[in-house]
Amino acid sequence: MADCGNPNVEQDALMQRRKKYDRTRQCVKCHDQLGNVVIRHAVYCKGCFFPTVVGKFRRVLEPSISKDKSKKGLKATGNLCLAFSGGLGSSVLLDLIGSNYFAAEGDAGHDWSRGRGGGTEHPRNEPVWEHATVCYVEVCNAIPGARDRTEEIRQIVSRLASYAKFLPLRLEDAFDHAWWERVGRSKPHGQLFVDLGHQDLLLSIRNTSSSPVAALKAYLASLPTQTAVPTAIHNLIRLLLLHTAQLTNSSHLLLGTSLTSLSISLISSIAQGGGFVVREEAQENWQPDSTSSQKVAVSRPLRDVGMKECAIWAWWRGLEVVGKENYLGGKQGIGALTKGFIIGLERDYPSTVSTIARTCAKLAPKEASDGLCTLCERPVQPGVQDWKERISIRQFDEKAAIARSQPGLIQRLCYACHTTLTSPSSRGGVGQSAIDAVQLPVWVESRVLGSDEMKDVVAEFLLDDED
Ligand SMILES: [Zn+2]
Ligand SMILES: [Zn+2]
Repeated sequence: MADCGNPNVEQDALMQRRKKYDRTRQCVKCHDQLGNVVIRHAVYCKGCFFPTVVGKFRRVLEPSISKDKSKKGLKATGNLCLAFSGGLGSSVLLDLIGSNYFAAEGDAGHDWSRGRGGGTEHPRNEPVWEHATVCYVEVCNAIPGARDRTEEIRQIVSRLASYAKFLPLRLEDAFDHAWWERVGRSKPHGQLFVDLGHQDLLLSIRNTSSSPVAALKAYLASLPTQTAVPTAIHNLIRLLLLHTAQLTNSSHLLLGTSLTSLSISLISSIAQGGGFVVREEAQENWQPDSTSSQKVAVSRPLRDVGMKECAIWAWWRGLEVVGKENYLGGKQGIGALTKGFIIGLERDYPSTVSTIARTCAKLAPKEASDGLCTLCERPVQPGVQDWKERISIRQFDEKAAIARSQPGLIQRLCYACHTTLTSPSSRGGVGQSAIDAVQLPVWVESRVLGSDEMKDVVAEFLLDDED
């Protein structure tokens, strides 16, 4: 009799269960098997879990690939470039791409892998992309105490993605003219420097013999806030990947961003003034310059798949995940704070995280863009300069007068990049007292030095150089 006693205990138990999943323990797909996993309150059995994830992945990726009308299959206009960080999302991405688009006879007969069964003459056997490249950017020189993982990653990629060519890069390549020439660009005359201590971010050309690693370290050390460093690293990686995608004639650059990491980057980007490009954060088409015909579609095919689903996928598929270097900076940086918040939210309120991504997908800027930012190569919000002028207290000293004749970077930046470089609140707070001018990434050089305004500066520099 004592057993049917305390109704509070029973009610508690009921509420506990309700928190975890709705209604029954039966799989929501087949209504037959008992479920093995709970994803956003829905129960799935192991057999239904795989096709569900594959379905979400294809629904995002495939609309960006053109149809080959004659053969009824998908046929991309270029090659494939996959970004690999060593983290969970990109490990799952490599596995999904391999088993769905590069496997010879299906992936060991799984019903969820498209494979290329049906004989060699079957139209499905036309590969969607001719070649695939897996690109890894080593960041160890930007993070104190980090180790070089390139060789480790090379091993993993050879096992996870035997269908692709491995192309390792280093973060310092962003400051290396040799890399710039490797991606098919012409070598500039000198290095472009920016004075981050000056309100107009004055530009100058110099000839230095400092190494790309030294230039990278100086650049990161000159940034004003804890938040700016991971944001700058993220941007350098993004541009290195985009230019590599172009070099490998890729029509698609795929990133292993899960729903969870997408929500983190959306909130973190908006918090840092990136609201104008919130769409680009989820999906963008990047055109290296107006003359090039090939655009690179940057896609995040796992953007509807949460981190928990990725972890289950990796576990059931026996994938080896090496992990990646954490470069979110200090605990108080916007990136680290947002990550802590979203991960907690996903644990307690799993549906809310997908709402963040869905809501952001509906946002669109009111006005069209003014052109591209020279630093991040994303659309610039019109009128940023006027607004910045109105809110900032400008110094009318000699330096400002000189500035009128000397070009500055300030007119060529988007709002988010301007904030990353100059955030006034804590300038000097990160142990930076006297800021010397620092070298800018090579793509900024090529965009800026090509402009009319810089012709005189370049000419002057060349005269000096002959002395
Ligand atoms: Zn099922
Ligand atoms: Zn920018």
